[in-house]
Parts: sequence; C-alpha cells; structure tokens
Amino acid sequence: MDSRRQRALRQFIATDRLLGVEAVPLGALATTAPPASAVPAAAPAVPRPAAPASPPAPPAPSGASLVAPPRRATGPSLDRAARLRILADIDTNEVKSCTKCELSRGRTHTVFGEGDPQAQLMFIGEGPGETEDREGRPFCGRAGELLDKMIVAMGLKRTEVYIANTVKCRPPNNRTPTPAEIEACWGYLIRQIATLQPRVVVTLGAPASKTLLNTTTGITALRGSWQWFTALQPEGPAIPVMPTFHPAYLLRAYTPDNRRKVWDDLQKVMGYLKGELTIN
Ligand code: SF4
Repeated sequence: MDSRRQRALRQFIATDRLLGVEAVPLGALATTAPPASAVPAAAPAVPRPAAPASPPAPPAPSGASLVAPPRRATGPSLDRAARLRILADIDTNEVKSCTKCELSRGRTHTVFGEGDPQAQLMFIGEGPGETEDREGRPFCGRAGELLDKMIVAMGLKRTEVYIANTVKCRPPNNRTPTPAEIEACWGYLIRQIATLQPRVVVTLGAPASKTLLNTTTGITALRGSWQWFTALQPEGPAIPVMPTFHPAYLLRAYTPDNRRKVWDDLQKVMGYLKGELTIN
C-alpha cells in the first residue's frame, strides 16, 4: 500500500470515528481521487447576477450538471487586512442594523459569518439557529459541533475555513428561510464570497445549495456532484461548489449511509484542495 493510500485510510478511519461510521468499505480508498467519470463534463452555462446586490436569479435547468467556465478561483488581490476591513464594514455598518426582511424582528443577534478571510474553503449553511442567534456566531450549536468534526476530519481547523449562512438572522422556530428572505440577504452573502473568493465552496443543505447554484434541484440529487458558482463572473472567477447534506440533517438522520455520503463529498473537496483532483 503506497503512502497516499495509507494516509487516506488513516484519515478515513479517523473520520469514521468522528462521524460514527462502524465499517470501512474497501471502495472507500478510491474516493480520495475519484475516477474521471466522477467529475461531470462541461454543461451549458447557468446565468447568475453579477452585481453584489442582486437577488438569487430565477431557477436554472434542473439536474446536477456542471458548468465549466474558463476562470478559476485564485483569490482576489486583497491582503488579509483589506479583506477583514471589507467584511467588518459590511457586518458592522449594514448587517447589524439590517431590517430588510421580517427576520430582523425576532433576532437576538445577527450572525454574519466568521473564519479566515483568506480561507481556501468556505462553508455556507442555511441560517442561524437558536444557539447561533444567542451567540452571534455561525454553527456553534449541535450542528456546529458536527461541522467542526467534519472540518477536523478534513485535516483543517475551524479557524482555517470561513463559515457563513444564506440569511444572517434566525428564522422563527428554525424554519427554512423563505425565498424572499434569502433574496433580501443575498447582497451580503455574495459580497462575502466576492471578498474571500475561496477555491471551493461547500454548500450545506438544500437552501444554500439551491441559492448558490440557482437551481430548484433538491439536495439529494445535487450532493456529491461538482457544480460551479458563477455569479462573480465575468469580473471574478467561477468557484467550484460541492453540495452536501447539512449537519443538522445528518444529526436527524444519523445513518451510516448518510455519514458515508457526506464523507465522500468532503473527500472530493480535500482531493481538489490538495491538487489530486482536477475539475474540468
Ligand atoms: S436576514 Fe438578512 S436581509 Fe433579513 S433582516 Fe437579517 S440581515 Fe437583513
């Protein structure tokens, strides 16, 4: 067994322990470097608004097809301090006082997002829950604990990634944000993405995946297939997106099969970040 396979096996076993999977399938090692057939070929472009303040565009053709745009994310030509300044400015001067949608009425705190402003990997979830609303930080409840484990299993620290949500205020009773609420908040999220320009975005759950990918396709069909976030084009890069299940869903449906699916998705992301996987 070569060192890459040994490394993958060690990581797989460690992650299985974290995610609670009891058995290691022999095929698991192959997920570190998926076969070319696992990477979708080019497909027709999906138009997205380029302006930061634009709302999510109308639904695109369904299916997990991959757009293959010419430019890749390399990060904006901004240093860490400049990115921090931009993000803090949006948060402090706009989000914290925002009343653009009904969610502002019930919030305790806005939850802008946090992490490394130069992160190569950005996670985008749905919206703050009770704990997040109370603390003003994303993913700090039970789902956040699981996300932390997923990040560690990927060989990263939470401080090395960036975490945000589609809406910055908690929906009542943790309901799914409405399209109008997501649209109202879109201008903040797209400016976060534009400032970070991460190499990869992982969308957690259906609302984030549908919003970023401008599609009505469900998360079950989307997850596991590389997609592209193209709303920054033509000025900015297209960014590869890996949709996967939300940690909160995983906690509700904590089956070996679901955990395996999420881990497969994260393996693909790790493979891409390490340069072991090329996305056409
Ligand atoms: S969810 Fe977004 S748009 Fe709505 S009030 Fe909060 S910050 Fe503003």
